[in-house]
Order: sequence, then C-alpha cells, then structure tokens
Amino acid sequence: MKHIPLPCPPAVRSLLIQFKKAAVGAYPVGGCVRDALMGIPPQDWDVAVTSVPEETLRLCEGWGYRVIPTGLQHGTVTVLTADGPVECTTCRTEGGYSDGRHPDGVSFTGKLTDDLSRRDFTVNAMAAELSENGETFEIIDLFGGQADLQNKVIRCVGDPHTRLTEDALRVMRGVRFAVKLGFDIHPNTMAALKDCGHGLERISRERISVEFQKILCSHHPEQGVSLLFDLGLMPHVLPCGISPDGPGKLSSLPVDFATRCACLLWQMPEAHLAENLRGLKLSNETAHAIRLLASGQLPSETSPLTARLLRKEYGDLALPLLIVASAHGTNPAELQELVKASIAAGDCVRIPELAIDGQTLMAHGVPKGKAVGEMLAALLSLVLENPEENTKERLIKEVQTRIS
Ligand code: ATP
Ligand code: MG
Repeated sequence: MKHIPLPCPPAVRSLLIQFKKAAVGAYPVGGCVRDALMGIPPQDWDVAVTSVPEETLRLCEGWGYRVIPTGLQHGTVTVLTADGPVECTTCRTEGGYSDGRHPDGVSFTGKLTDDLSRRDFTVNAMAAELSENGETFEIIDLFGGQADLQNKVIRCVGDPHTRLTEDALRVMRGVRFAVKLGFDIHPNTMAALKDCGHGLERISRERISVEFQKILCSHHPEQGVSLLFDLGLMPHVLPCGISPDGPGKLSSLPVDFATRCACLLWQMPEAHLAENLRGLKLSNETAHAIRLLASGQLPSETSPLTARLLRKEYGDLALPLLIVASAHGTNPAELQELVKASIAAGDCVRIPELAIDGQTLMAHGVPKGKAVGEMLAALLSLVLENPEENTKERLIKEVQTRIS
C-alpha cells in the first residue's frame, strides 16, 4: 500500500498515536481525507474509531483530554486537542431507513468497512491509517474514491437509487459536492438524483436550506442552480416563480448567501418573495437583507445626492444592491463610485449621524415631543442636500432660524 504524507496537525496526530498504542483503530475519514488528497487544507479532522463510545470517552479522558459527549447515541465524542476539536465516531452501520431521512437505528460494529459503506459518495468514503512510523498515512479506499477524485466524478457508494432513497438529503449533497469541487456527476448517480428528488418532501426545510446555502456560496453557483432546475429540485428549495432563464451572473457576486440569493429572487412579486423566504428558514436578519436587496429600486438619476439618498434608504446594503443590480445587466458603475465616495467622506445619511441630537435641540428652544423628531428630520434633509452643513454650529443656527 502507498504511504503518503497528509497535512495532519500535530495534536491530531498525537491523538491517533495514543489510540494506536491502546490497540484501538483510529482513522481520519470523510471530508478531511478527500480534501487532503486534493491538496486543500482540511477544515476539520473527523476520526472513525473502533472503540465503543463509552470506551472512547474513558480512554481520551484518561489521556488528559477534555472530552464532550456530543452524540453518544450516534457514537460521537468530541475530543478537544491543541489543534482544535476532533470528532471521534465509533465505526457503525445504519439500519433501515423507513422514513427516508434517518436510519432506524445504528449499530456500533467497530468495523471500518461498515463505516465507509454507509457514507454517501465515493470521494467522501475514504479513510487514512497512520503508518507504524507515525508520519505517513495509508489510504483506505474501498469504493474507488481516489480514481473518482482523479476523474473529478461524484458517484454514490453502492447502488445510487438505494442510497438516495435511504436519505433524500443526499440528493442535495450530491449537487453540493459537484459544485463545491467542480466535479461531474456519474451518469448512474445523475439518473438516480433525477428519480429520487421527490424524497426531499420528507426532509426538513432547514436541512435543505443549509445545503442550498452551500451550493449558492460555492465556486459554481450558476451550475448549482441549473442542476437544481434540471433535476427537478427547485420546487423543494424555492417553490415560487423562479425562472431558469434569469438567475443573473451569480458567480460575479461576492461569496455571500444573502447577496446571491437576492440575485436569484431579483424583482419578483412580493407574495412569491415572501413564500420563498419563508421556506428557507433563515434568521430574521438574513431574510430582511435578502428582501431589501431583491426588491431594491435604483434611483433614476445618478448624482452625489441620489447616492446619499440610496445610502439613507438601504444603509450598508446600498453597495450590495448595486452589485446585485449589475449582475442583472444594469450598469450602475458610476453610482457605485459615488456611493463609495460618500461612505469614504463619512457623509451623514441618518439622524443619529447628525452633528446635533434631540437634547441639544431642546436646549435651544425646540419644544419636547413631536417637534424634536420633525426638526431632526428637517435637518437631515438639509444635510443630505448639503453634506458640509453637518456641523453643530451650522445646525444650531438653522434651528434658531426655523423657530424664530
Ligand atoms: P465539508 O468540508 O463541506 O464539511 P464533509 O465531507 O466534511 O465536507 P460533512 O457534511 O461534514 O461533509 O459530512 C462528513 C462526512 O460524513 C462526509 O464526508 C460523508 O462521508 C459523511 N456523511 C455526512 N452526511 C451524510 C449523509 N447524509 N449520508 C451519508 N454520509 C454522510
Ligand atoms: Mg465536514
């Protein structure tokens, strides 16, 4: 077997060595092996272990680690190492999937072969074993994951229809990994993705949304969106009024879900927008940003004043709005420059940014109550027209003129 170096951080390596000394199998597995083989530094190191969860917990605590019993019933404990948390999960099989989303039960067989067989795609189903010298690794690849990495192919482990029926979320995951890695989907897997998408009805909207967010924030968002259409998955993601023709130039946008999603939902009728956003189960803040960006109106004129008014209306979203608009073919480059210049100049565009506040107004004779708000609004209008007027002296003078 080939011995290869992997960029495994020292503290993770030393945990693997401890397991080895205790005669427990411990294998980095899944995404970290895939990424390492592709030359991408893995974000986290998941380890499949042959010990049962209670034993994993006892052993790691005995070696002095802090251990969190994250999901004992699934076999997972999280070991806190100097190089970050490492999830150690007992090798397991998953029983039937009568509900099409969760295994009916898991059994801890402690066999790596079982653990690799339950994984979704060949490129995600490889493990690595630390060699005796404690430096290099041997790759354990039972399903041709390395060849599929070479050929840039996403392929199910085992029979695609069976695997995608067991857990329909894998349909979204298949699209996600294809666009994240820039891979093709194997024809048999593609056929099964088409046939099994309806299973998403049984998957929670939250889990679908998480996959969708990763698809839109990938390097190939346009390809992701067209796959969602071609595979008939869009009704499970954005059910209302999305057209395959006009998603806009998503890849020209920053890697930000709100911006990219707003580009997809650009200028759609309010009722459709609301329905799509409801299904995505986002935080209020994200949903609000998408709503503003998707239904944003650009001024018909381009001037320093319209740039300031746009900032007043959209706040921090003024520039993203122009970026989304430009992904749809309008060319607001000049307005964009004016907005940037206004931000750089620190122009006041909101009442709290005025050089004067309500207290000061009252101290200068504005009666308490409604009049204070009205005066602040009038001063803001003045300052929006003439940004250089935003000084305390100038505004006090203005107040005096207005109340005299
Ligand atoms: P990423 O870097 O995007 O997190 P990842 O491969 O680590 O990629 P995860 O979603 O974190 O992806 O899952 C970790 C591993 O667990 C996968 O590589 C895969 O082997 C397995 N896995 C996760 N979800 C499923 C699933 N629904 N069905 C089968 N295997 C799964
Ligand atoms: Mg992961």
